Amino acid sequence: MYYNENTIIYFNGQFVKAAEAKTDLYSQSLHYGYAVFEGIRSYPVGGGTKIFKAKEHYDRLRHSAQLMKMPFHYSTEQLMELSYEVLRKNNFTDAYLRPIVLCSANMSLSKGKESYLAIEAWEWTNGYLANKMRIMTSSYRRPNPAGFHIEAKVSGHYVNSILACQEAKDNGFDEALLLDNNGFVAEGPGANVFYEKDGVVFTPAKGNILPGITRATVIEICNELNIPVRETFFTVEEMQGADSGFYCGTAAEVVELASLDNVAFKLNWEDSLGAVIQKAYKCKVLEKEFQLQKEVA
Ligand code: PMP
Repeated sequence: MYYNENTIIYFNGQFVKAAEAKTDLYSQSLHYGYAVFEGIRSYPVGGGTKIFKAKEHYDRLRHSAQLMKMPFHYSTEQLMELSYEVLRKNNFTDAYLRPIVLCSANMSLSKGKESYLAIEAWEWTNGYLANKMRIMTSSYRRPNPAGFHIEAKVSGHYVNSILACQEAKDNGFDEALLLDNNGFVAEGPGANVFYEKDGVVFTPAKGNILPGITRATVIEICNELNIPVRETFFTVEEMQGADSGFYCGTAAEVVELASLDNVAFKLNWEDSLGAVIQKAYKCKVLEKEFQLQKEVA
């Protein structure tokens, strides 16, 4: 359950009970997927709570709204303050925040006239994705960047994610891997992808993906640990049978891939760079110091 009768959200200028908040059935957001949102994590840090990369997430939310030409006037600082207030009012520390910008009743296809901000949050209990995921190459491709602002986090884009994710599950896999419009590996339905080969970590270059905040954090970690990382275009065949692979995203964090189209990754996860990055990521979000083991240094 995402909320109960006591859950408080921020909605349209007020803190209200989630169970009592109402939205408009004539909204452009509902009919056309014309809404922008974020997925953000807060972690228990220093006896309180800390929102990981709050500024980056709210800058992206504002950028997404701007690309969609939605009127949206909150500053990043205001959005951060409101988010902490939602966490405080619900007494959450380890939580997931889901701000969404909705547009008003309007059946036309012109830009939104008014927007409403909701900030929803729920306690983070037991993760999001399966561990050790078996993924399959999807028959669905990511939306064409010539037709969408693919770098924006827009609700309508996620119809593509639902199709791909469900197709993978219907075929007995845990998750999908989508290609871009040119046939190169792009990303998962809700996460970015990396693989490791011969001590180098690869991830799809920007242009056809949602360039994740976790992806940027993983690159930051690689740079800190002197792990060579390449942002480039590559095929499924190049990735299949590599040393290790992982998905990463705010909700998923860093999650191991067991196989791609039933071809297993070579290394034991414990011996992979992926595992090192996974541990370093966990330390970063919890603001703990990461000690690099000698054997991988
Ligand atoms: N790609 C897609 C399609 C996503 O939905 C997400 C999750 N927001 C990501 C990548 C990862 O982005 P982030 O690390 O910013 O959560």
